[in-house]
Amino acid sequence: MVLTKPDFDVAIIGGGPAGGSMGAYLAKAGVNCVVLERELFPRPHVGESLVPSAMRVFRDLDFIDQMEEAKFPHKFGAAWTAEDRGAYDMDFKGGFKDGDTLAPESHVDIRFNERLQDGVDREYTYHVDRAKFDLMLLQHANKLGAAVYEGVKVGHVDFGPKEPVVRFKMGQNGKEMGLTAKMVIDASGRNTLLGNQLKLKIKDPVFDQYAIHTWFDNYDRKVFSKKDEHRDFIFIHFLPISNTWIWQIPITDAVTSIGVVTQKKNFAKSKQEREEFFWNAVGTRPALRDALQKADRMHAFKDEGDYSYAMKQVTGDRWMMVGDAGRFVDPIFSTGVSIALNSSRFAHNNVIAALEKNDFSRESFSEFENKIRRGTKNWYEFISVYYRLNVLFTYFVGDPRYRLDVLKLLQGDVYDDAAPPVLEKMKKMVSEVEQNEKHPWHKSLGDMTVDAFKHAASI
Ligand SMILES: Cc1cc2nc3c(=O)[nH]c(=O)nc-3n(C[C@H](O)[C@H](O)[C@H](O)COP(=O)(O)OP(=O)(O)OC[C@H]3O[C@@H](n4cnc5c(N)ncnc54)[C@H](O)[C@@H]3O)c2cc1C
Repeated sequence: MVLTKPDFDVAIIGGGPAGGSMGAYLAKAGVNCVVLERELFPRPHVGESLVPSAMRVFRDLDFIDQMEEAKFPHKFGAAWTAEDRGAYDMDFKGGFKDGDTLAPESHVDIRFNERLQDGVDREYTYHVDRAKFDLMLLQHANKLGAAVYEGVKVGHVDFGPKEPVVRFKMGQNGKEMGLTAKMVIDASGRNTLLGNQLKLKIKDPVFDQYAIHTWFDNYDRKVFSKKDEHRDFIFIHFLPISNTWIWQIPITDAVTSIGVVTQKKNFAKSKQEREEFFWNAVGTRPALRDALQKADRMHAFKDEGDYSYAMKQVTGDRWMMVGDAGRFVDPIFSTGVSIALNSSRFAHNNVIAALEKNDFSRESFSEFENKIRRGTKNWYEFISVYYRLNVLFTYFVGDPRYRLDVLKLLQGDVYDDAAPPVLEKMKKMVSEVEQNEKHPWHKSLGDMTVDAFKHAASI
């Protein structure tokens, strides 16, 4: 009998930030790996603002110089704005049992350099044009030694007693081909190839957010900047529509990405109604509407729908999922790309150890699974607090006792603590407001995440 070697040690499905970084980590360690990407890069993609924990990945992969050469805008911090009304013009004095005086502002901002981060030696991270960024990262993986096949759509993975066979086609009508690998990493994003195939996907029971977005040229970012340095911050503008907000993300000096996020029930069905919805939503913040109307829309509007889900498991015998392929949490804190990159940072060591021991059982990947679940659970709870009582978030950012602990979460340092104390405190305060109908914030409780903490514990 002739024994044949598998074609690759590792096959990675998808070449976005998760697949590109995984290819780069593995190739850098000398692993024989392939990335299979269905599109021909560059291709546009939503998800343009990073958080600082992404910098550790760029450092590991010797990629920071390239990020600088690409001249992506430096993101030094974040700001949140609201009209001075609704929850914001109530009397907040003495709202809590410990006698705190609460005075949330309608504009808060935070700079990343207020808190030092281990392994991060810059005061900023980046906003990125994803077409350019994803291509650069995939090319970097290729330069480090990963094979990259573009225009190749994976349809199925055959798992049997031996090595998995990845089945793929070139284009729509191509002939189906197969390649073998010792293990498969699903980085197929919200397409969730293995999640669908293995029936592991759980639709998020709480979040059903939709988004509509596009780029504007010559939008004046100074309109909301209290200081000059805010011009390249990400801005999140709260709208007086329940669970609805707008992102403002710098793409270049002149180009800005603007997106409205809302719940499914608010979202219109037809394309035309959606554009109308965009302008109506923006119209609730007149300063923003006026500035956008003076700017030039560069592309057609694009929408993204009902995107939140989890998986019953993110690793198994001979496979794992990284990035969106394993879970999607609401993008309010710009988490997705950094989760994708950090998935690869945490997972690649488990993959290399599995190759060394020739043991590809699910247990070999448990360290990664535990860590990524801890991080995404923390994000999920933080996001749930935010939607349940966003005035509380503003209050915590403004209070020196909690500011740096909140900043730690916003920087993406969410993977080590099973229960970060600041999150526990926030949850406790939410529950006090829920139970006290006379609390001045009671009326501001959002309806969407009422049961979110229960769900966070179960998925
Ligand atoms: C409305 C909205 C706003 C967001 N805003 C932000 C933000 O500001 N900041 C942030 O960090 N994140 C944001 N995100 C999240 C971000 O888009 C994702 O988390 C990120 O792109 C995940 O990277 P990934 O590599 O896992 O998946 P992707 O970037 O989606 O990459 C997956 C790749 O797999 C390929 N693929 C899929 N199926 C197959 C197949 N069968 N065969 C071969 N290839 C395949 C796809 O073509 C794609 O290139 C946002 C998301 C949404 C919906």
